[in-house]
This record gives sequence, structure tokens and C-alpha cells, in this order.
Amino acid sequence: MAKEEKFTDIITLDYAIADITRALKESGFETPGLDALLIVAHVLNWEKERVLAHRDEIFSEKQILMINESVTERLCGRPVAYITGKKEFYKNTFAVDERVLIPRGDTEILVEEALRIAGGMKGDISILDLGTGSGAIGLSMACELKNATVVLSDISAEALEVASQNAENLGLTGRVKLIESDLFDGLCGLKFDMILTNPPYISSDGMNALPPGIRQWEPYEALYGGSDGLSYYRSIFAHAPDYLNDGGIILAEIGEDQAVQVREIASGCGFNTIETLKDLAGLDRVISAKIG
Ligand code: GLN
Repeated sequence: MAKEEKFTDIITLDYAIADITRALKESGFETPGLDALLIVAHVLNWEKERVLAHRDEIFSEKQILMINESVTERLCGRPVAYITGKKEFYKNTFAVDERVLIPRGDTEILVEEALRIAGGMKGDISILDLGTGSGAIGLSMACELKNATVVLSDISAEALEVASQNAENLGLTGRVKLIESDLFDGLCGLKFDMILTNPPYISSDGMNALPPGIRQWEPYEALYGGSDGLSYYRSIFAHAPDYLNDGGIILAEIGEDQAVQVREIASGCGFNTIETLKDLAGLDRVISAKIG
């Protein structure tokens, strides 16, 4: 579908998916087929599996208008997750919009490792998701661990509104507390068995090199980690010991080229059991650190 073209005739889902895919591909989008499927599923308010199983069905006129609108937004670069208002992460679907970073598949590594470690902990487990954004990390933990209480903190009141919505959608409001806090500033007196965090970690150079779909649409303050990208780690590791119970652990997502520096920061703050985990692409992605 050329930019100025519009769907006006009777069209099947199959035809629409093929045509949107072609249009997005021609404009250089990286995952045109998946984007097309997600847009069609969104307009129909169906699961994508249902779309794939009913490819001969036809759209109503109203739906065709909505398709045109969504495709135009995508062609302007708006991420599909913001267009559809949702993103799958780990085992759940999270509401997202421009107030929060879109959860990434790579971050599931952090959740998996945290769950593995939590499996070895006894009794109730208290978890902090520091800089929670949509709540993806902390709420995934709360869903899996019935014995966990989870604090979701963020400096952004707007992000906490999204996290709160997700807590409600997942039926977790009873076990989850949301706290507006600049890193640990609003958490005085609290202690956790686990601190999980995906802080902003993109350097100044990295910000310039980000794909426009990220740089122009996702929240700057959720991405930019100071000139060398490490500012938040310095602050987080310096204060984390005061907020960890004995035997507690912190897991932080990192940029793929930051493992050496973040390990140094952690050990400089008294952490002495430090591990690095790789993501599915084989890149360093998570640092775990304990004291003792
Ligand atoms: N992984 C994200 C990206 O590459 C960055 C997330 C972050 O800064 N915490 O866009």
C-alpha cells in the first residue's frame, strides 16, 4: 500500500496482511510481516493466532479506516507496541504507551535468572523492581512467585500509572506496592531479598546511534544513562547494600559492552560475588551481585 493509497474495497485479512507487509518492507522496516499481523490483530481486537486461523474473513469499513490509520502511524515510525498499546513480555501481555519503555525480549533473561535464584530462597520473598516503567520485571516475578511481595518504584509518576494498570490487569494489586521514588530516595527503611533493575544505560554516543524508532518515540529518561551510560549503576550499587537483606542479591540489566565497568562499580561498592549473564544473542546482558 503506497502511502497515499487507501484500502477502500472489500479485503480479506490475508490480503491486508500481505499489502501492509509490502508497504512496511518497502519503507525499510525490519519486521514487516510481524508488524502487519500485530496491527491487523489490534484493529480486530483479536489474538494474533485467531487472525492467522481466519485469514479469509473480511474487514468492516470502520476497520479498514482503523487499519489505514495504524499503518500511517507505523510508517511515521511509531513503534507497533505503542500503536497496539501492548507488548508481550515473559508470560504476560503488558499495557504500554509513550509513558514507558517497551519491554524487551532480552530483559526476560533477567526475570528467568531472578526466578531461578528465588527458587532457592525460603519463606516470603521481598522484591524491588527499581525503575519499573511498565512493571514488566516486577509483575512477572509476582505472577510466578505466589510467596513474593513486590515494590515497583519509578521516578516517573506517569510510568507508575501504566505499571498500576498492569498490576490491576494481572490481578496483582494485593501483593504489589507502587512507590514514586528517585532511585532509593523514597524507599528509606525498606529492605529486600532481591533488587531487580533495568536502569537507563545508553551513553551520549549510544543515544545518537539509536534507531529512530527508539530515539524519537521511547522516553528519553528511560534510556539515557549519562555521558558514559553508567551513571545509574554508580548510584544504584552504592546504595543497594543498605536496601538488601542479609544474603540478598541485585540483578541489573546492562548494555552489551558494559559488563567490565559495571562489575568494577559493583565490587567497588562492596559486592564480592558477581556474575555476568548473556542474552540469547550471546551478548552480556545482566550482572548479578551479592555481598558474602
Ligand atoms: N535495551 C534498550 C535499548 O537498547 C535500552 C534499555 C535501557 O536503557 N535500560 O534500546
